[in-house]
Amino acid sequence: MAEYQTHDYDVLVIGAGGAGLRAAIEASANNVRVGVVTKSLLGKAHTVMAEGGIAAAMANVDERDNWRVHFADTMRGGQYVNDWRMAELHAKEAPDRVRELEKWGALFDRTHDGRILQRNFGGHRYPRLAHVGDRTGLEMIRTLQDHGIHLGMDVHMECTVLKLLTGDGRIAGAFGYERERGRFLLFRTKSIVLATGGIGRAYKITSNSWEYTGDGHSLAYHAGASLMDMEFVQFHPTGMIWPPSVSGILVTEGVRGEGGVLKNQEGRRFMFDDIPENYRPQTADNEEEGWRYTQGDRNARRPPELLTRDHVARCIMREVREGRGSPHGGVYLDISWIKDRIPKGAEYIKRKLPSMYHQFKQLADIDITQEPMEVGPTTHYMMGGVRVDADTQMSDVPGLFAAGECAAGLHGANRLGGNSLSDLLVFGRRAGEYAARFAQQNGAPAVDAAQIEAAAHDALGPFDHSGENPYQVQHELQEMMQDLVGIVRREEEMRRALRDLESLRQRAATVSAPGNREYNTGWHTALDLHHLLSVSEMITRAAIERKESRGAHFREDYPAKNDAEGRCNIIVRRNITGEMQVTREPLKPLTPELQQIVEEMK
Ligand SMILES: Cc1cc2nc3c(=O)[nH]c(=O)nc-3n(C[C@H](O)[C@H](O)[C@H](O)COP(=O)(O)OP(=O)(O)OC[C@H]3O[C@@H](n4cnc5c(N)ncnc54)[C@H](O)[C@@H]3O)c2cc1C
Repeated sequence: MAEYQTHDYDVLVIGAGGAGLRAAIEASANNVRVGVVTKSLLGKAHTVMAEGGIAAAMANVDERDNWRVHFADTMRGGQYVNDWRMAELHAKEAPDRVRELEKWGALFDRTHDGRILQRNFGGHRYPRLAHVGDRTGLEMIRTLQDHGIHLGMDVHMECTVLKLLTGDGRIAGAFGYERERGRFLLFRTKSIVLATGGIGRAYKITSNSWEYTGDGHSLAYHAGASLMDMEFVQFHPTGMIWPPSVSGILVTEGVRGEGGVLKNQEGRRFMFDDIPENYRPQTADNEEEGWRYTQGDRNARRPPELLTRDHVARCIMREVREGRGSPHGGVYLDISWIKDRIPKGAEYIKRKLPSMYHQFKQLADIDITQEPMEVGPTTHYMMGGVRVDADTQMSDVPGLFAAGECAAGLHGANRLGGNSLSDLLVFGRRAGEYAARFAQQNGAPAVDAAQIEAAAHDALGPFDHSGENPYQVQHELQEMMQDLVGIVRREEEMRRALRDLESLRQRAATVSAPGNREYNTGWHTALDLHHLLSVSEMITRAAIERKESRGAHFREDYPAKNDAEGRCNIIVRRNITGEMQVTREPLKPLTPELQQIVEEMK
């Protein structure tokens, strides 16, 4: 019999990033017992890395902004496969969530008259991102952590949940281990909020932290929940590609928002070559107009560098493929040129983009105030995730909620920058509220001892096996996903990926972790493999099913958008015999009011 420590809660929140902490705050405020579990230390979740800002139509910098414009921008960016109800709630509630953060102590950058300053970002019609220099995520986490901790929640740091437990057709608990001591933990709980973030570590080149192994996606899938639109993986256009010491690290879109431009090997601003029709009316005709936009000219339109991420990433790939790329397979991003236009330009860049400046100076000896950066697409964000009800965030497993990057719906086929941090606040709060309500209305479920024994047995497998090193399997998986299910996809390659996944799965079943259970990172990696393989298969099967190109999903064999067959969501779930089943579901029709907003702002 496995030994474990038991904890009882009304609501268990898995994840202590922006979504998890906001959910925990709301649940605690509803007077239920709340536990928070996080793989890392409190205050160190991936949200801490967010740079550019939080999108909210507060209209502090441009009074023409309002929730309708934000809603329309989000739907256009998502290529209209978004859950419109989530997009509506998000646009309407984000300003209050930002003001609430300020009330709790977040120190945002300011306008001259003392309001929260907002900056330009890709796909947003007006300056909309509330920010703290380029360290917005840090301030957000600090504020939520300070506020939340006084509400009395229990925090289990450096603990990894391995399995969700179910019983009587609903969620019953979670089973995990302490990373430091290797001891098992059982959480008995009435409801669970999954807030585990993304999946970037399924790919070789990624901006994501080590935590992003798709645990929440996989935990939900194995507990019987449906996942939606897993084919939509966002490749951010500007990750550093050279030198190797900074490879994959993100260069925030804020750099382009402040006037940074993209150039090819010939020194030409190639983004003017290809402007999508639905963005043409909002895009600058020439470089001068684009520059004026970044400097706050309300009559100017945005430069094409601030088109949506999916489009910018593909334009970069085109330059590289057609032989106009930089020496290491990317293009150049230059902010240093603004010195010619702004007095004390170098100081301005350091003030506006302090982390960018220090990070690249220290890690790569690149001074971004003096020279361009060499950039290319990096795996950045997961639009797909657990399918949830828009208002409550509950999945189709009763008592299981999801919020933040591990939930699907808001962003459709492509997320706009800044819309994640606002997503965490809006839907983290909703998930916390409804998870607390579920706990208050439902009794404590019975926990099935057989599920616990099976989870413990599986977890200890790597100590008994004599197979290969788990890092080798992880490395080959990442290479394979990058090559076969990356930015440009083809059916034949993705079918090959499915075969490769099967053989990697067999190898993963016998990997070995020498040593003992205390702080054994080989063991942790062996356990992560199960999740990485599950999400990789979900991504691949969903990507094969969507036979068109839309947003972040680009099929070379189906290069056009196909509204007749593409206006659907792709749903992945486990069928009764335990196999992965993929189906399509038609989109919910928009309400007449929202349809009118979309039409007016097209
Ligand atoms: C460099 C960078 C810059 C970004 N900048 C912006 C920006 O400016 N604006 C914006 O809107 N978005 C930005 N994003 C995206 C945004 O940061 C993320 O989408 C967001 O922070 C995700 O938050 P989350 O709460 O969903 O998850 P996270 O903050 O990642 O938190 C996940 C939590 O779950 C825990 N966890 C995971 N698995 C388990 C498990 N099995 N057991 C227990 N705990 C687990 C982790 O330890 C962690 O605590 C950026 C992303 C990157 C990489």
